[in-house]
Amino acid sequence: LKPSLFAAEAKDIDVSFEFFPPKTEKMEQALWSSIRKLEPLHPGMVSVTYGAGGSTRERTHATVSRILKETDLLPAAHLTCVAATKGEIDDIAREYWDMGVRHIVALRGDMPTIGQAYAPHEQGYKNAADLVTGLKKIGDFHLSVAAYPESHPDSANPAADIDNLKRKIDNGADQAITQYFFDVDMYFRFMDRVLAAGITVPIIPGIMPVTNFAQAKNFSGRCGTSIPAWLATLFEGLDDRPEIRRHVAATVAAEQCMRLYQGGVKKFHFYTLNRSELTTTICHFLGIRPEGEIS
Ligand code: FAD
Repeated sequence: LKPSLFAAEAKDIDVSFEFFPPKTEKMEQALWSSIRKLEPLHPGMVSVTYGAGGSTRERTHATVSRILKETDLLPAAHLTCVAATKGEIDDIAREYWDMGVRHIVALRGDMPTIGQAYAPHEQGYKNAADLVTGLKKIGDFHLSVAAYPESHPDSANPAADIDNLKRKIDNGADQAITQYFFDVDMYFRFMDRVLAAGITVPIIPGIMPVTNFAQAKNFSGRCGTSIPAWLATLFEGLDDRPEIRRHVAATVAAEQCMRLYQGGVKKFHFYTLNRSELTTTICHFLGIRPEGEIS
């Protein structure tokens, strides 16, 4: 038996990091401090989210632009088609193409009011699959789309959700990144259905290290991620002990990655929430060290 699943073997792992565009000067400094600390881990790409209803259009653009100009990182810009015309979306995509951005995370997005049923803009792209088709006409972007191991809350059933994923891939997407999840077996069951549907592109697990359990529980309810009972138990009694919570978060996420790796997963996407410490710790467990050194 191997003493650990980590370290030396893990030379073949590729990681990507997700950030959100900062709202204030202070948040900008925190983000850039994180980017600088994570840069030596050589992620395959770093992505920058797009606010609900396109609310961060300028800030997403500014962050992507700065990453492109000031770092060696490959940025991917998230882009949602909700509440915008095709013309508006096409203009944003063309701007990205012209400035040298070659990777877009193509998404439908959600209505600006929480709980409001989705309705496409009259002159807009209908959904993410439609957006993928439109973006491919603008430039030969590398396109990521979203995948949902526990199905998207809007999907009629799990089979319809896989059909939707397949449409996105058939329309030209190169890979998918999953909604975050905690149940590794459920991801593998999802992958069985993905492969059975003839989808062969990478389906990269999105890893969310949870430090604030109450917040995560609230958010998970809205995006359809289930919270296993064992996770709730792990965070019991830690409300006023942030340091212990951070250790627990790192351990849980590292174990999750380790089990995914054991099952053949080689690519991981981290929802960093603009912080570097947890992501760095989990990457360390995976054998990813600054400048690619593996001890
Ligand atoms: P779609 O793939 O278009 O579909 C969503 C659901 O609608 C699916 O269940 C699908 O089955 C159903 N559906 C779509 N079209 C049809 C059809 N023709 N007939 C029947 N059913 C249909 N949101 C942001 O606002 N900004 C971000 O930066 C952002 N980044 C994300 C990154 C990742 C990795 C993930 C997983 C999600 C992200 N989101 C982001 C959230 C995302 O916008 C929401 O989950 C949104 O509700 C769905 O977007 P989608 O691209 O998955 O939609």
